[in-house]
Amino acid sequence: DNAYYLESQTRRESNARSYPRRIPVAIREARGIHVTDADGRTYLDCLSGAGTLALGHNHPVVVEALRQALDSSLPLHTLDLTTPVKEQFVDELFSQLPPEFAKRAKIQFCGPSGADAVEAAVKLVKTATGRRTMAAFHGGYHGMTNGALSLTGALHAKQHVPGLMPDVHFLPYPYTYRCPFGLGGEQGHEVGSKYVERVFADPSSGILPPAGVIVEAVQGEGGVIPAPAPWLRELRRITTGQQIPLILDEVQTGIGRTGAFLAFEHAGITPDVIVLSKAIGGSLPLAVVVYDESLDSWEPGAHAGTFRGNQLAMAAGLAVIRYIRENGLALYAEQVGGVLRRKLEAVQSDTGCIGEVRGKGLMLGAEIVDRRLPPDCIGSYPQHPELARSVQRHCLARGLILELGGRYDSVVRFLPPLTVTEEQIEEIAAIFHDAVLAAER
Ligand code: PMP
Repeated sequence: DNAYYLESQTRRESNARSYPRRIPVAIREARGIHVTDADGRTYLDCLSGAGTLALGHNHPVVVEALRQALDSSLPLHTLDLTTPVKEQFVDELFSQLPPEFAKRAKIQFCGPSGADAVEAAVKLVKTATGRRTMAAFHGGYHGMTNGALSLTGALHAKQHVPGLMPDVHFLPYPYTYRCPFGLGGEQGHEVGSKYVERVFADPSSGILPPAGVIVEAVQGEGGVIPAPAPWLRELRRITTGQQIPLILDEVQTGIGRTGAFLAFEHAGITPDVIVLSKAIGGSLPLAVVVYDESLDSWEPGAHAGTFRGNQLAMAAGLAVIRYIRENGLALYAEQVGGVLRRKLEAVQSDTGCIGEVRGKGLMLGAEIVDRRLPPDCIGSYPQHPELARSVQRHCLARGLILELGGRYDSVVRFLPPLTVTEEQIEEIAAIFHDAVLAAER
């Protein structure tokens, strides 16, 4: 039963993975948004493998694509050798990129995880520019390998790891709820982007021109924080002007989740490098970087790796990207995400502990705060991680799996599959409402 598997997991798995202790569910079966534990209890899954399961669990098109691949004797693994499935995957992916970017795009299969693709992106821009530093943002999350961790803001994950990539400069992200550089309205974003422009150009800032700037258009792990479109446009203008490649990490935001195929499209910008993973493998491990051909300065053999030829992941990813396109799921994510957002805002008005509801499409978050304390000079209340954990527990007890994120683990994150129905949205919001009221009691 559930307890047996959980005890066994706690005894044998590394301490490093602590979040399963907050979600003590041994999943036996899963379909769509639903998972069933070993005791037969069913939950709504709004974690979706941290955004990986764009179509939910075991969607029929994914299962069918895998079945067909197995029935057709497709080689399961080919290193970098090509196959019809791989070529179709690239065709489908490129067809969804902004056309002016796709025309000049090169793809590098990395893998199997998002962090592998981040590493490749860093190596690419360093090789192309001959520069050694990188710029990243407060609260950014790019993975747990050496280079990716160096670019990640979260100190708790890296302060005990000596010898990370030293030359990373962190700049403030426009976290409008807490960061004065992101204060609401055009002016706040202007101040933030002005600052970014100046530190790169200022000979006394101590910052060498970076090989690249890496950014999430909506920070995921950092607390579901969308960068305002004008700020992203400024970042693009500045990096273009100073000839610094701009890397958009779309590992979590990509493939329709935010209401556009890629989240940077909301700002109408074109990056130099796009990092993709999670949903593009249709639930299987796959990661790629797609970049402007002008950066393709790698010597032959400069970037190798064994697991870059997983044909099942490409078959599943192809099926998912095609399904999202054919069914207009990015637009649907925007519409239904708007419905969820309004319901979360209604919960905010009816309860006392939600400082902000924010996000884009079906990537939403509610920041849990302590309203008993006074707000600070920019109007934000202190974070309340204990209460956020209590909300999470009350949701779980009512059949809703959610994960926390943000600088202080005080943001409740909603990442339902893009196939979520309006009735399920209703159910999610009702459970959340009850859970917040119960946690506040
Ligand atoms: N970048 C972003 C934006 C992510 O959200 C993540 C994973 N949460 C990663 C990179 C790292 O991906 P992986 O865990 O597959 O290495």
